[in-house]
Amino acid sequence: MNEEILDPLVISEQQFDKASAYIQHLQSGLIDFLKQPRRICTINFPIELDDGSVKTFRCFRVIHNHVFGPGKGGIRYHPDVTEEEVVSLAKLMTWKCALVNIPFGGAKGAVICNTKELSTNDLRRITRRFTSDFLEVIGPHIDVPAPDMYTNEQTMAWIYDTYDVLNPGKNNRPVVTGKPIDLGGSYGRTEATGQGCLYATERFLSKELIPELNEVAGARVAIQGFGNVGKVAAQAFCRQGAKIVALSDSSGCIYSEAGLNLDEVIAFKQQHGCMVGLPGTLTLTNEELIEVDCDILVPAAISNQIHASNANNVKAKLVVEAANNPTTPAADCILQRNKVYVIPDIIANAGGVTVSYYEWVQNHANEQWDLEVVNNRLKKKMHDCVDNVFRRWQGFVVGEEKNIDKITGEPMECPDFRTVALVTAIERVANATLIRGIWP
Ligand code: NAD
Repeated sequence: MNEEILDPLVISEQQFDKASAYIQHLQSGLIDFLKQPRRICTINFPIELDDGSVKTFRCFRVIHNHVFGPGKGGIRYHPDVTEEEVVSLAKLMTWKCALVNIPFGGAKGAVICNTKELSTNDLRRITRRFTSDFLEVIGPHIDVPAPDMYTNEQTMAWIYDTYDVLNPGKNNRPVVTGKPIDLGGSYGRTEATGQGCLYATERFLSKELIPELNEVAGARVAIQGFGNVGKVAAQAFCRQGAKIVALSDSSGCIYSEAGLNLDEVIAFKQQHGCMVGLPGTLTLTNEELIEVDCDILVPAAISNQIHASNANNVKAKLVVEAANNPTTPAADCILQRNKVYVIPDIIANAGGVTVSYYEWVQNHANEQWDLEVVNNRLKKKMHDCVDNVFRRWQGFVVGEEKNIDKITGEPMECPDFRTVALVTAIERVANATLIRGIWP
C-alpha cells in the first residue's frame, strides 16, 4: 500500500530541506523566510452562469518571494486545485526563475472550477471577475500571471483587457504573458515549454551519462498529457527523430511499438475529443504509461504521477519533468538508486517562464521579436541551465563540493539533479536577500 504523504506543501518542504542540507552557512532565520510564502490572497466570488444559475468560485493568488522582481507564475483552472498546491507551485516558480536567472519572484494562481462543465462565456466572466478582484494584487511590476493547466492565450487576453479597462492611460501589456500574438504576445511563447523540454533533453543527453542514449534521434519516448506542453513536446521530439511510442490525455493512453503518427492522433482527438480508440493502437491507462517500455518518459500533465509504488517499475532511462511536481521525493530516491536520471521540472519546463520573460521585455519596449530570435535565446538559456547544473553536480561527484550534512556532520550521498538545481537556486535567492540588505 502506498502510504506516502502526497501533500504538496510537505513535498516542497522535503525537497527544500534536502537541498539546504548541502548549503553551508545558511542562517536558520533566512531558511524560515525562504520557506514561507510572502502573501496568500484568497477570494470567493459569485458568477451568474449561462444556464441562469449562480455559482460561487474560490480563487487564489500567492506570491512566494519577490527578492529578484515581480511575482511570476501561471493561473490554473482545475476542480481539484488546493491552496497548498498553489503555494507549493509558487515556491517552485521562485527557484525556477532564480535558476534560469530571470528577474522575477515566484507566484501562482488558481480558480477551483471544472472548465469542461463551463461555457466560454462562463470562463470569460470568471476570468474578468478574478482579474478585477485581484486588481491590486497583480500588475506589470507587482505580479505577472501566465497560462497553466486549463488556461490559455484567450484567458490571458481577457485578463489583459480587464486590467487595461480598469487602469486606463498606461502601457498595461506587461501585466500578463502568454497573450495572443496580436495583443502583444511573443512568438514562440505557446510552444516554449515543450520546445524548452527538447532543448534541455538534447543538452543533457549530449553529456553521455546514459549508455546508448546520447541523442534524441531514435529514442523511444512516452508522454503523459497532450495539452499545451505535452503536444508541443511530442511534436518537437518527433521532429528530432524520436519515436513517440505512447501518449495520453485525461481519458487514457494509446501505445504503438512502431511509433504513433502525431497528425493522426491530433485529427482523431479533434474529431472524438480523446485519443483512445485510434485505430492501430493499444489502449493503456495513465498508470500503465508510467511503466511503459521506453527510453525517455515525459510526464506533462499533473503532479505525483511517479511515486513510491510505481517508481521501481519505470523502464525509461531518463525522466523529463515537463509537468510540475510529477515525481514524489520517495520516487526520486528509488529512481536515483535504479540509475534512472531525472531532468527536474525546475529545469525541464523552465522554457515557459523564460519566454514569458521575453514577452514582458518586448511589451515594456513595445517590440515584437522574430521567432528565430526568441528560439535562439531560449535554446541558449536552456543549454546554459543544463550546463551549470551538470557542472555543479560533477563537483559533488568528484568531491569538490561538500557532501557533509551541515547539521549532523554526517557524509551524505551525492545529490540528484533536482537537489543540485535547488541548491543553486536557493543560494541565489539567499545571497540576493542579504545583498539587498534586510529591511530596515
Ligand atoms: P493543459 O491544460 O494544456 O493540458 C493538460 C493535459 O493533461 C491535457 O492533455 C489533459 O487531458 C491531461 N490530463 C489532465 N488530467 C490528467 C490525468 N489525471 N492523467 C493524465 N493526463 C491528464 O496544461 P499544460 O499547460 O500543458 O500544463 C501541463 C503541465 O505542465 C502542468 O503540470 C503545468 O503546471 C506544467 N507547466 C505548464 C507550463 C505552460 O507554459 N503551460 C509551463 C510550465 C509548466
